[in-house]
Amino acid sequence: MEQLLNKIKGAIYGQAVGDALGLGTEGMTDEDMAWKYPSGITHYGDIFQDRHRKRWKIGDWTDDTDMMLCIANAVIEDKGVNLTTIARNFKEWALGEPMGIGENTFKVLMMGDYVDNPLGVSEKVWKKSHCQSAANGGLMRTSIVGLFPKAVEQCAADICRLTHYDPRCVGSCVIVSELIHALVYDKQCPSYHQMLELGRKYDDRIGEYIDLSRNGDIRALELQDDDTVGYTLKTLAAGLWAYWHAKSFEEGLLEVVHAGGDADTNAAVACAILGAKYGFNAIPSEYTNGLIYKEQLDSVISGIYDIICK
Ligand SMILES: [Mg+2]
Repeated sequence: MEQLLNKIKGAIYGQAVGDALGLGTEGMTDEDMAWKYPSGITHYGDIFQDRHRKRWKIGDWTDDTDMMLCIANAVIEDKGVNLTTIARNFKEWALGEPMGIGENTFKVLMMGDYVDNPLGVSEKVWKKSHCQSAANGGLMRTSIVGLFPKAVEQCAADICRLTHYDPRCVGSCVIVSELIHALVYDKQCPSYHQMLELGRKYDDRIGEYIDLSRNGDIRALELQDDDTVGYTLKTLAAGLWAYWHAKSFEEGLLEVVHAGGDADTNAAVACAILGAKYGFNAIPSEYTNGLIYKEQLDSVISGIYDIICK
C-alpha cells in the first residue's frame, strides 16, 4: 500500500512540478532560452519574469494542473466518474478567467449550454474546425485518470471528449492514462507494439509519433516547430520520450523543459509519467516543497486514495 501511495503522489506531484517549471520555457526557442537562461533553468526561482510569465507567482502551476484538479475534485465529490460534475467544474474554472487557458478549451467551455450538453458542444466546436483542431488540452490533464482503479480507457476517452473531440486527442489520452495506470498499479506496461495498436484503434496518425518518441534525441521531436506547438501528438511524443529515455525524474524534467515549445504541457505530461514510474520519493524535494499550492495536491491525493482503498 505504501508503494501504491508513493506512485499516486508521484503522478500528481510530477504533473504539477513539470507544469510549474515548464512555464519557464513555454513558447521559447533555443535562441530565446540561450538569451534568457544562459546557464539553463533548474528552479522555479530561475523563471524569467517577462510579461507572460510574471502573471504567475513563483512555484504556481498553470491551466494543465488546474484542469486535472477539476477532474480529481469531481471524482472525489461523486466517489466515481460523473461527466456532468467534471463539466461543471471545468465551466466554473473557466468563468474565473484562468490564466493560460487554451484556445479550443476556451471556445468549448464558453458556450452557453456547455454544462447541459458538454459532448455535443465539444463535437460541434471540433467540426467547426473542419475536424482539424487537435490541441493538447485533453492530454495535459489526463494523468489523474490513470489513477482510477478501473475503466481507465473509457474514462480517459470520455473525459478527453468533454473539450477535445478529435480522435488523435482521445487516443493520446488513452495511451498516457493506460501507461500511468500500469506504472502506478504495478501492472505490465503496454509495450511499444501494444501502444501502436492502442493508437491505431483511435487514429492512424498516432503511430508515427509513438515511433518518433523512441528516438534517443529529444530534438528529433522538434517541439519548437511553430506549426505543431500545442499539437496533442507532439505532447504525446514528449511524454513517451521521457518514459523510454529518462534515467531519473529530474533528468526527464530538465530535458523536456529545455526542449522549449509548449514546455509546461509537455513537462506536465512527461513528469506525470515519470512520477508514476519512479514514485514521489524520487522527486527532489526542492521541486515538491516549492509548489506554493501543494496543499491542493495533498487533499486530492488523500481523496483519491480513500476511494481506491475502499
Ligand atoms: Mg499551461
